[in-house]
Amino acid sequence: MFKHLAQVLVSSKHMMSSSVNAARLIGKVAVVTASTEGIGFAIAKRLSAEGASVVISSRKESNVNKAVDTLQKEGHKNISGVVCHVSKKEDRLNLFAHAEKQFGGIDILVSNAAVNPITGPVVECPENVWDKIFDVNVKSTFLLTQEVLPYMRKRKGGSIVYVSSIGGLAPFKLLGAYSVSKTALLGLTKAVAQDLADENIRVNCLAPGITKTKFAAALYETEEAHEIAVSAVPMGRLAVPDEMGGIVAFLCSNDASYITGEVLVAAGGMQSRL
Ligand code: NAP
Repeated sequence: MFKHLAQVLVSSKHMMSSSVNAARLIGKVAVVTASTEGIGFAIAKRLSAEGASVVISSRKESNVNKAVDTLQKEGHKNISGVVCHVSKKEDRLNLFAHAEKQFGGIDILVSNAAVNPITGPVVECPENVWDKIFDVNVKSTFLLTQEVLPYMRKRKGGSIVYVSSIGGLAPFKLLGAYSVSKTALLGLTKAVAQDLADENIRVNCLAPGITKTKFAAALYETEEAHEIAVSAVPMGRLAVPDEMGGIVAFLCSNDASYITGEVLVAAGGMQSRL
């Protein structure tokens, strides 16, 4: 109990303030997948706070409407939303067409959607579950990349960020197949970055550590689970989604103009070598 309280105090002391005093993305248009809550929502919010026009998306229309409404009420003006299940080609094409129609083009893609339908060692993953994980987490990211290129080429440049995971560098034992899919994104980052470097399109990757979202709820909702999760983190606390937003804003901004093909790990000091 006291240990938990102490951790909360440490957390609030070190957590970044939510105020943003950078405006590095004025005039840019960003598309963020899976952005109606959690890390994607925090990324969309930060890109908007730094001046970008942002298209929010996820599978459920009610979630899209709610996220857009929330941001608009917080004073974010250039926000639009559209349904996009990243595994559906027509949704992906519509997402990009929507961005162009609303805001005149696309400069930034953040591919953030992922699923993890199973917990267990990788060797026990059923084939259909493996396929589902790789379809959403890897293949959709690859296809989104292919499909956004015509828009970025029209603008003569762009920035792409894939959201991987610390599990992609040091696999979580009980998130076996998911971790491997996140490792694949590290390779995709390097390969696509090489292909596009001479077109002024940079491709980088964010690997978050354990972050307090619905996705990771099982890791922190009970005191016992929270204690186990935190014990793996040298900084002694879990991340909050807002701590991921600024990293993506940096990677998409001119402050990162000479960075491509890199993976930025934000995991509170967890071991991150592949
Ligand atoms: P989250 O809070 O559970 O949010 C998931 C979001 O994804 C929701 O907006 C959901 O909305 C949307 N979504 C789910 N499936 C989708 C699909 N097939 N197509 C489009 N949208 C979809 O999750 P999160 O923790 O922020 O995770 C975001 C990313 O961070 C994932 O790539 C995850 O692997 C990565 N990550 C998370 C952690 C962590 O500890 N939380 C750590 C490392 C990496 P709808 O239900 O409306 O579709």
